[in-house]
Amino acid sequence: MSDILSMTAVEARAALDKKTISAVELATAYIAAAEETSSLNNYVAVTADHALSMAAQSDKRIAAGEAGILEGIPVGVKDLFCTAGVASTACSRILQGFIPPYESTVTANLWQAGGVMLGKLNCDEFAMGSGNETSAYGPAINPWQAGDGVDLVPGGSSGGSASAVAARAALMATGTDTGGSIRQPAAFCGIVGLKPTYGRCSRWGIVAFASSLDQAGPFSRTVADNALMMQAMASHDPKDSTSADEPMPDLSAALDAGVKGMRVGVPREYVMDGMDPDVVALWQTGQAWLRDAGAELVDISLPHTKYALPAYYIIAPAEASSNLARYDGVRYGLRVEADSLDDMYGETRAAGFGEEVQRRIMIGTYVLSAGYYDAYYLKAQRVRRLIKDDFDTAFQSVDAILTPATPTAAFPVGRTVDDPVTNYLNDVFTVPANLAGLPGISVPAGLNADGLPLGLQVLGRPFDEATLYSVGRVIEDAAGFSATPTRRAGGTS
Ligand code: GLN
Repeated sequence: MSDILSMTAVEARAALDKKTISAVELATAYIAAAEETSSLNNYVAVTADHALSMAAQSDKRIAAGEAGILEGIPVGVKDLFCTAGVASTACSRILQGFIPPYESTVTANLWQAGGVMLGKLNCDEFAMGSGNETSAYGPAINPWQAGDGVDLVPGGSSGGSASAVAARAALMATGTDTGGSIRQPAAFCGIVGLKPTYGRCSRWGIVAFASSLDQAGPFSRTVADNALMMQAMASHDPKDSTSADEPMPDLSAALDAGVKGMRVGVPREYVMDGMDPDVVALWQTGQAWLRDAGAELVDISLPHTKYALPAYYIIAPAEASSNLARYDGVRYGLRVEADSLDDMYGETRAAGFGEEVQRRIMIGTYVLSAGYYDAYYLKAQRVRRLIKDDFDTAFQSVDAILTPATPTAAFPVGRTVDDPVTNYLNDVFTVPANLAGLPGISVPAGLNADGLPLGLQVLGRPFDEATLYSVGRVIEDAAGFSATPTRRAGGTS
């Protein structure tokens, strides 16, 4: 069984086509793996029956020579995605019992390509968090540990997704990234995560957090697997008015394109207080890898970087407060009965939303209120434009930008629960790409002194995910990252 679990998706696809394994065998191995690693709390539901019947269909299509690009590949789904007939709660009490009658476009695309749904994965409540600690299901745990054996967060908000892929409890998984929720957990768990360009993946059927920032994207163990999943996820969707009608190139061609002659920017503003020295060292090593592979490294300036985090923590809560107004006890999930309609709204929302979500609603409502709108929200929107302009200028002279993915490695569960601002600081390197709508990838590139994974981030021009995969592949090859976490399925192989 452990052999099957150590296959990449590309290898598993080849083995399925050669019929040395079957999709049912693969699904069975991953269902067992999810059970074996259940102490990581990364699944909120394993949909075994679903998986086995989808896998049986895959085996039929493979036999008929009709395999899709993800045929038979077991995929975990962040609980933020609506899945038809399967509870979808955004890991919030307020959506308890909500079973969508429809499928999100992204997951529908994955099943259309032959993917097999393993289950729903833990995440921060409504995707608000950086450690998967705000989930109504309790924290998901990182399969990596430092020598002291303390439980670490897998990152957030897509912590369950990253934990499951790193623990070999899913071969790939969906995530969403509003301010870093794919790239930061990928870095914390030693796997690959990509946030596509805003508009690349349809947001239809994904529970909304901050609509002008939210994007779905893939998690995988390798860059090639990531490109494969991205190819299947993206589509133009008339059901999402912000979905872009931009054809996706063949991403497999990008994997071996290399970086010869490419200009890669290194932003001087991304050196910050509180960075782990190992992160700084790895960033320099990453620059040397790209230089050795034929890229030209260019010092660039993104002068408004320091305003990105404050602008994000105004814009995202503002949009969230408006998006979350729909959870009123009438249309979905939880309802707490009370004497009047107003009391029912209030009591349902007080019981249904966790502390972090309530904090965001309060901040968002405040910055949108008359008298504060101009001072906060409008100003944050202006800053957002300046940040976008910084990137536009930079991309006139470079093809990609290299930065660390996070300022530190994964931190212990519980450390920042009472300190939201420290938690927010985690997103310092990831948030700018969301504000500017740009694609970004995090690739595992090394370990810190405690033996925990660190990621490098590559940012690209709008709709140029292909270049991110070219650069990501060079980093992956140079890093030769082969370390594996202690708490994973299938033992030591
Ligand atoms: N950590 C950020 C937040 O809490 C980003 C979350 C996300 O990307 N969904 O807002």
